[in-house]
Amino acid sequence: MSQTAENKDSNGDQEAKSPTDFQFARYNVDLSLGKVHPENITCEDYEDVFGGIARGFKFLENKSVKDAYDPGASLVLNLGVLSGTDFMTGLRTYFLAYSPLKRSLSGMPSAMWSTGSGKFGTKLRHLDVDELVLTGRCAGPTLLHIHRSEEDGPTVIDFVDASDLVGLLVNDKIQRLHQQYADAHFAVIGPAGETYQTVRYAAVALSTENQLKSGDPKARYCGRGGMGSMLGSKNILAIVADTPDRRGGKQPSALKILNQEVARGEGSRRFRDAKKNNGGGGTWANYAALDPVHAMPEMNFVPTGSNKSEQLYRPNVEKGPYIVKDESCYRCGISCHKNVYDVGEDGKAGNFRAKVDYEPLNLLASNIGIFNIEQALELIEQVDNLGMDSISCGTTLSFAMEYNRRNPESPIAEGLSYGDYEKTCDIVEKIGTGQLEELGQGTLRLSEQLHAESYAMHSKGLEFPAYLPQINPGYPWATAGGHMSMRTMFLLLLERETGLDYWVDAITNKGYMTLRDDFLGACKFSGMTHEQICSALSAVTGIEMKVPELERIIKRTFLRAIQLERQVGMTDADYDMPAEVHEEYPQIELPHFNTPEFFSQLKQKVNSRLDEMIVEEGLNQVG
Ligand code: SF4
Repeated sequence: MSQTAENKDSNGDQEAKSPTDFQFARYNVDLSLGKVHPENITCEDYEDVFGGIARGFKFLENKSVKDAYDPGASLVLNLGVLSGTDFMTGLRTYFLAYSPLKRSLSGMPSAMWSTGSGKFGTKLRHLDVDELVLTGRCAGPTLLHIHRSEEDGPTVIDFVDASDLVGLLVNDKIQRLHQQYADAHFAVIGPAGETYQTVRYAAVALSTENQLKSGDPKARYCGRGGMGSMLGSKNILAIVADTPDRRGGKQPSALKILNQEVARGEGSRRFRDAKKNNGGGGTWANYAALDPVHAMPEMNFVPTGSNKSEQLYRPNVEKGPYIVKDESCYRCGISCHKNVYDVGEDGKAGNFRAKVDYEPLNLLASNIGIFNIEQALELIEQVDNLGMDSISCGTTLSFAMEYNRRNPESPIAEGLSYGDYEKTCDIVEKIGTGQLEELGQGTLRLSEQLHAESYAMHSKGLEFPAYLPQINPGYPWATAGGHMSMRTMFLLLLERETGLDYWVDAITNKGYMTLRDDFLGACKFSGMTHEQICSALSAVTGIEMKVPELERIIKRTFLRAIQLERQVGMTDADYDMPAEVHEEYPQIELPHFNTPEFFSQLKQKVNSRLDEMIVEEGLNQVG
């Protein structure tokens, strides 16, 4: 993102205030022809300035895609305005496309995005790349090498043969590339992305400094919606952002104060360790919050009502023989990565085992009937290294297990069953290497084949994350997966409200506010208030924005996402939940309110209100 020259004063200080004072650098990459067309585009609104999904949706809404894997379909990779800046956690890289996984009931692929941290985005920023639009398909396995033609020269993109990377696991790819490109960071796919035809939920992995220094598999993942499958469909195995780090200037004092708040303030407290200003221990702590009231997924989202999952609580794992270390992305003081190590001979952290977040742990352990941490660590690491989304993979596994439990006479996936660790490892390997399309296609398509939709835990083809749908009727309006794009999953636990108007308000006014961090480039775990983010924008870009204006851009971005779903034919039926979600489960110690009657009224009210909002914002004219 650059400011036009005429808007810098004689000292070079920033004076720019309006969107047209900014330009972004888009590189249109024709993979079929091997050609790159760079352009500097003057921003027409703040959506353009901010980037991420705000700008990406504007691009996608003008496209018509019938098959996500059609070479003519574009995959957009972009940054947010804070990505790669001195704002702490400003590390996000976004991938957007019509998804091979998310789709309408009528069969059309739907717009989707996924995002991750690591240091790849920072390197792109240092190369002055705001956006890549990848269209077409390379003839053979290819690596895109983004670098400067000479020191301080223009950025160029070379197409490099990547045959030697074929079949390598995620970390092996990254470490091999690191040997070759010492100043670079990487976006890569694993074997799952290479076999995109049979794996619709492959992820893109972004390298971290810790990973390159330690050699351990510590990538960050853009997991949801099959963006790794998309990259694989274009025959791109890796993108290399290759440039020395740019020397940072002096940080404005306002930014220093904000960064201290990110690292030590209340907003990020939940994701820090206790030793860091009374942190809550990371997302892993959700086990101890949800499981005691049996509101945590077990056995395909039906809690057992037992204490079986207790052994997976972090304090119990820390009893040994493991050591949990909080580690971080580039220059982030939150250190949300809870990396589990074996105890070394010296009593300190030895062999790295896995990075444990709540979602992969739950969906690759408790929710598939595995309650053993050793087995859970192996599965998390296996899924990561094959380059799959642990949420989609885990939930598809649990669906298959539940189907087999109900249909012992006609099992699928080699008779996979709850708690069968050995078989699960075998099946995961087969999915991730393209040998088991049955499960690699995801829960929606599999459940349609099996006529078993009532307990297929997904919405619009995106598998539910590790929060019970029984207590979250907001799931269907999540536009990119249930917990990162619609924050309604904790509401019942925290507020115990079951009224219709409360939930309509939660979905149409509040839950989507989390999308702010899907275009500004900051990590959601920074927990910044809108006021603080406006201050960060001012300090980094010179944009003076008030909170209501920012909220309106978030709202418009959400409505664009909804409108994009409607453009591909989504109707009321696409916003239904799996029927068994609405049943009563006495073991869940929270009110039962998401009944068929409640949900039917909620759906009608939410969709009507969204109709009005789309018209109010003039977004019904687009497309
Ligand atoms: S909060 Fe976690 S994921 Fe986000 S930037 Fe910091 S270490 Fe990375």
